[in-house]
Amino acid sequence: MQATTQLIHSIPVDPLTGAISVPIYQTSTFVQEAPGVNKGYDYARSGNPTRATLESLLAKLEGGEVGLAFSSGLAAIDAVAKLLKAGDEIIAVDDIYGGAYRLFTQVYQQFGIKINFVDTSNPENVFNAITPQTKLIWLETPTNPTLKISDIEAIARIAKAHNCLLCVDNTFATPALQKPLLLGADIVVHSVTKYLGGHSDLIAGAIVAKDKAVGDRLKFIQNACGAILGPFDSWLVIRGIETLHLRLRQHCATALEVAKFLEDHPAVDKVYYPGLSTHPNHEIAKKQSKGFGGIVSFSLKNDTAEAASAFATSTDLFKLAESLGGIKSLISHPATMTHKSIPAEKRRAAGVSDSLLRLSIGLEEAEDLIQDLQTALDKSLQHASITLDKTLA
Ligand SMILES: *Cc1c(COP(=O)(O)O)cnc(C)c1O
Repeated sequence: MQATTQLIHSIPVDPLTGAISVPIYQTSTFVQEAPGVNKGYDYARSGNPTRATLESLLAKLEGGEVGLAFSSGLAAIDAVAKLLKAGDEIIAVDDIYGGAYRLFTQVYQQFGIKINFVDTSNPENVFNAITPQTKLIWLETPTNPTLKISDIEAIARIAKAHNCLLCVDNTFATPALQKPLLLGADIVVHSVTKYLGGHSDLIAGAIVAKDKAVGDRLKFIQNACGAILGPFDSWLVIRGIETLHLRLRQHCATALEVAKFLEDHPAVDKVYYPGLSTHPNHEIAKKQSKGFGGIVSFSLKNDTAEAASAFATSTDLFKLAESLGGIKSLISHPATMTHKSIPAEKRRAAGVSDSLLRLSIGLEEAEDLIQDLQTALDKSLQHASITLDKTLA
């Protein structure tokens, strides 16, 4: 049986009533028959049947032993960081998600955990950064917004040889395209807010651990610290996951068409999409994932924040907003939005030029999205030539 069919039918029918949709157990506590005698649940922070259904679905999706659903992606990242103790070191991908950067540098560093950022698209950099104190290697692949790819299998071998855990933030690829645990990673985290939820209607996070021992420790941390996902949001995520494979197939197909269109447009400078043969990590992306995802970034020949801002406000179907992974296409301008807190020189050195724009390709038809971009790009060319005329005059 195909994985998608298996996944859809692994969501159980309610044994009590036959309800085909998972019931939402909106409750804080569970009545016990005698002290300590219960039906598997005692208090809803420790466990809730709706959340439990989602958690076992998450574990199946990623091919791990233990799945956990959190109140946000950052809460999930925070729980993984709590596996460490003072004196331990993390090696992390250098263009890590901004919120994870803030958490590691401004919260965990003050507790005595050291963070070392390296360009993980070359595994040798990871190898060279390992010290006896390194306990955790942190990858995102593809990264945001330049879609850099790291070789999960190669870095997993390095982690294993040095007794470190490898954690992959799989938000951008999703398990529909890439399964880090099957490539040797120990832990996967998600901002479920994005593709797993899939409808831009909730904030949630997830962890899946390959081994039971690590998973049990993370479950202990989740219960001890309390950042659980509520039953209604758990239900919404289950509903999102039911169409994950279908959505991703479409996101990928449309994204590739959009990327090819952008590559050929005279107003566009660089296009970043792992599915293009011109992408520097295209071969690794092809090896470790079934598709190249729904995010496309590009920069303009007129490499100014003003030009990018004018472009981002002249699209109609692409809505100007942070976040990604939903039904509606979104556009964002990292230099003034998600990456604004990074000093300009550092930001540019990381490949985030002033005019870089990031698209989250939704589920609209490709031809309509391309028409929308065409109109905005033509406008931007016109704008550039008017500015040039004025300068000449
Ligand atoms: C959005 C995002 C996060 C943070 O998740 P929240 O659900 O917003 O807390 C973490 N990692 C990546 C790659 C993200 O895109």
